[in-house]
Amino acid sequence: NDPMIDAKGLSKYYGPFIATENVTFSVPKGEIAAFLGPNGAGKSTTMKLLTGFLTPSEGEARIGGFAVAEDRIAASELIGYLPENGPLYNEMTPKGLLKYLGQARGLKASTLKSRMDYVATKCSLGDVWGKQIGKLSRGYRQRVGMAHALLHDPEVLILDEPTSGLDPNQTFQVRDLIRELGQSKTILLSTHILSEVEAVCDRVILINRGRIVLDGTVDEMKGESGNME
Ligand code: ADP
Ligand code: ADP
Repeated sequence: NDPMIDAKGLSKYYGPFIATENVTFSVPKGEIAAFLGPNGAGKSTTMKLLTGFLTPSEGEARIGGFAVAEDRIAASELIGYLPENGPLYNEMTPKGLLKYLGQARGLKASTLKSRMDYVATKCSLGDVWGKQIGKLSRGYRQRVGMAHALLHDPEVLILDEPTSGLDPNQTFQVRDLIRELGQSKTILLSTHILSEVEAVCDRVILINRGRIVLDGTVDEMKGESGNME
């Protein structure tokens, strides 16, 4: 039984600079795992390696048993990815963007319609559905990114700082949504905030300076996190 998310010795070097080194962990089906670490620790790099947006210098990423480097299309059907900087399509509206992305993925018109209604509701996009993405607040842009990640109803969610830029109320809403999604999906969520881990995650993988320093329960991590900086 393959884990849904499998990082096998992922290293990424930029010349002599080590962004990640031998990052190894796996997330079994149905778990919500936190990927916790300070800025610059290597969280985004690892997530891009797992989703195939970056190629590892060493190691292998597997999603749902598929090697991401070899079966990119099969893996991308399983993955919903929220990148760190949200959507880049500033000229489009959330409605237009999601329709375009759903069509590009080959979703049937009737499926796409119901998925768009679902993500618009779950991500509270009703008020901005027809507005230009470039004119939206950081919080709304983040929720458009979340809607994109959820659009094709993927089994695996890889969420890079999903509550960054949200106000406290929006943060609670997104955490509720993640907990709800976690009942049927496998989730890896990056954060540098301990309370986020406690609020939503079953398990925590701690990364610092490109290396995994702990993989365990929240209580185990609290004893270790003094060793970070
Ligand atoms: P985090 O997401 O935990 O904040 P990142 O994965 O973004 O960390 O970055 C890890 C380290 O790799 C940082 O020191 C960052 O500056 C460096 N880094 C990321 N991308 C590049 C790049 N394209 N070229 C050189 N260094 C990079
Ligand atoms: P390419 O590398 O072929 O230029 P991309 O890197 O833009 O294409 O995207 C590759 C795959 O990842 C596509 O199937 C695309 O739909 C998917 N993808 C891109 N962004 C996201 C996202 N935020 N969430 C889920 N899937 C995404």
